Amino acid sequence: MNLNTNLDAHTDADTNTDTDADSDTDADTNSDTSDLSIDITAFAHDLVYDDAVLHGEPILLSEGDSNSAVLDSDMVSESEEDPDISLELHDFPDDGSDSNINAEFFETPDVLDKLRDQLLGGYKPPAECPSNIKTGMDIDKLSLDENISLEHFIAWKKSNGTVKAYNMHAKVLATHTGATILTLYQARKLAVKLTGFHATKVDICPKSCIVYTGKYEHLDKCPYKPSSGPVCNTPRYRQSSKGIKQPIAQVQVLPVMDTVRALYANAETSSEMRNRDSCLQQVLHLVATAANDPHLVDGMTNAPVRQYSDYGDGQIHQMQYEKLGLFKDPRDVAFALSTDGAQLTMKKQSNTWLLILIILNLPATFRYGDQVVINCATPGPYSPGDIESFLWITFMEMAKASEGLWMYDAVDSSYFLNHAVISMALGDMLGSAKINGMAGHMAIFGDRFSMVQGARSSHVKGSKALYYPSSPPENSTYNPDRPSNYDLHNLPLRTQSQYWKVIKKLEDAQTKKDKASIVKATGISRLPLCAASKAFIHPTFFPIDPFHIFYENEVLFIWDLWTTLSDKNDPVHFHRVAEFGALIPGAMKTLPPVFCGPVRDPYLKRQSQYKIYEWMALLHWYIIPIGIETGMHPSVLKNFSQFVEIIEFAMTSTKRTDANLSYLQELIIKFLLGFEKLYIGNDPEKINRMRLCIFQLIHVPNHIRWNGSIRLGSQATVERSIGEMGRMIRSKKAPFANLTNLIYEKELIKILCLYYPTLDINCKQKSDLKTVLQPIQEHKIYKKYNPMTPVIEEELASISVLLKQTITSGGNIKYSRWGKLKLLNGHVLSSRSTEAKNRVQRQSFWFEVCLICTILLKMLIFD
Ligand SMILES: [Zn+2]
Repeated sequence: MNLNTNLDAHTDADTNTDTDADSDTDADTNSDTSDLSIDITAFAHDLVYDDAVLHGEPILLSEGDSNSAVLDSDMVSESEEDPDISLELHDFPDDGSDSNINAEFFETPDVLDKLRDQLLGGYKPPAECPSNIKTGMDIDKLSLDENISLEHFIAWKKSNGTVKAYNMHAKVLATHTGATILTLYQARKLAVKLTGFHATKVDICPKSCIVYTGKYEHLDKCPYKPSSGPVCNTPRYRQSSKGIKQPIAQVQVLPVMDTVRALYANAETSSEMRNRDSCLQQVLHLVATAANDPHLVDGMTNAPVRQYSDYGDGQIHQMQYEKLGLFKDPRDVAFALSTDGAQLTMKKQSNTWLLILIILNLPATFRYGDQVVINCATPGPYSPGDIESFLWITFMEMAKASEGLWMYDAVDSSYFLNHAVISMALGDMLGSAKINGMAGHMAIFGDRFSMVQGARSSHVKGSKALYYPSSPPENSTYNPDRPSNYDLHNLPLRTQSQYWKVIKKLEDAQTKKDKASIVKATGISRLPLCAASKAFIHPTFFPIDPFHIFYENEVLFIWDLWTTLSDKNDPVHFHRVAEFGALIPGAMKTLPPVFCGPVRDPYLKRQSQYKIYEWMALLHWYIIPIGIETGMHPSVLKNFSQFVEIIEFAMTSTKRTDANLSYLQELIIKFLLGFEKLYIGNDPEKINRMRLCIFQLIHVPNHIRWNGSIRLGSQATVERSIGEMGRMIRSKKAPFANLTNLIYEKELIKILCLYYPTLDINCKQKSDLKTVLQPIQEHKIYKKYNPMTPVIEEELASISVLLKQTITSGGNIKYSRWGKLKLLNGHVLSSRSTEAKNRVQRQSFWFEVCLICTILLKMLIFD
């Protein structure tokens, strides 16, 4: 998880050295010394349906604001420079009347149709269900020996045991039960036979550049050319002693639909898989009934008052259902594809990339952790080159799955034709750049959600247009080609119809130069493999990763602005930073150890791998109170507090209405304008403080409309999976082979347990899965001679304040006192008295009172 943590936080971007290995996506777009000019302002944003649905209703402008506030003489003159490209590539309104954009939404380019056909390979689902489709299976068909052996095998695997452990426990079992326990090899073989779960092996360049799929399928040597250095040319095969061609290296890809098939064959998970549809049905019902029920309609906008909480009730899902004709069966499946890189061992340069599929049908509380499918891990030690060639096998499977695959449904006890699609592709900025076909954050149109043009902060020739201020000072000299002002209420957002037009143009481009100019004028560089998904919608298919952008890019960058990137005379400079830093470890004492690891002094440790959770802790807990104490400038703190509110709003998992999101949008706009005023002021060279990561906050409200919660795009899930798998690796000599096995066996065991739930010794009743906050270790309260009594009185007083209702020890409300509290995630908080006995370093009870109050409040209010 070392990878490119702050791509967007380069300290001196104007002379950016672009050290990322990934620059192949950017390379052809950055020759921006001779700019083509584009007229952005004429990209009027009249809300045709793909905009209206995807971007929410427009925010009502205050009086006097026209919807094209950005029009000024500056831009009108520019629009004449190159009218062709702008006319063709941007959606001009056809004099406001019957524009044909809606129809064009569905006009997929030929190149995409070809790609889809190629992936499908002529597959058609059979009209009748084939006879070999697995159902939930009868445990009685296994012999007792097989039964015990498989239970043993599963328990051993789930506890990540060694081979020695398997054999020794097997002996114990055999001695006491008289059963013949299968050897590890036999047990595994039986599990494979029962599940029919086999991995696909595909040839790969030993240097991980490409997988021999798609356009590489028939090649004999690797054609990949890294951004620096010559073509790889490593051969694909070696000759065996008998003269037979053998692949030098292969990579494993797991068939994800085998897992889906097993999920439906299990009655419990089969009903969980219907969660997606029940959310969708609620939305559709609301929309249908709102017409006749004024209570369901917002008085201002006349639109149904809907709430966004998850993919299931978001706009994208609704649109895929209504407009793209997907999810007609309640059991049809939506996946999120997620990619991320990691280092598995301490050795340098041992990068692996994991491709993970998250099943969006499952409720959000249940879909992560063990339920994610690790589909493929690239074998290090090199970073993968063309990551789409690694995805190819999965997209072939998904092409078939979207046409229909037969499976068994244990809820309906019947066979049915299931359809599945990938609905979104997640990744941090680097991961996303490898699969989204956009020109990247270094391009002039580097924002993948809007057509806002990047700005330069320097006159120096070759300086890059990397920054996104809404109205930069001295724009006409620094950025003569760029609009002098963007209205943050009304940005030129990217649309699907415009996207297909650009893809067609790119396909038709005759020369490299033509192509480059299109890429430059649009920020779109090619048709990505992901577009082959029938659920593909631009630009929502590649959402922001809040995990990295909020905490690693934004907080870190703002911190640097206060400390190393500003000088003493700068109003945003933080003068007492050393003092601030020194207070952090002390403040840690009040933080229960279960909340996060130790947060270090950012002043001293900023450069030594300061971790994401440390930035989180600074943002959410420490900067504001300690900033006040150490005399940070009030206007800086005020602006930052807006930022904190935005992030907290965005990262809180709760249902949001359009009214809530309008509030958020206003707050973001206030923050961004305040940020520009404070950090840039009148200095045109300081616009480099308005980085893309800061600007992209403006897209947060739309993300919540799209997928319910911005947390859906979080890479935290993938990173956690990587971490878990990483810790299980035993082999130091061959960690990648070890990882490959671990990934396969994890899925094998999961599928086996779905078909035969009773084999899992930990098999929990469903009621057990729904945990509640559990107090444990009850303490008796002795009224007399108890030194704790004053403390209890104090606690009751605080609780009374919160509840706005007096509770005393002599009152008639019964209360009890507990030593510990088990949280939903399994962690345990200790009480003050428990911790007093154990003299712990960090204390839990500060949070406990709040938690208990929350519980009490809920009881009082909702019961
Ligand atoms: Zn290669």
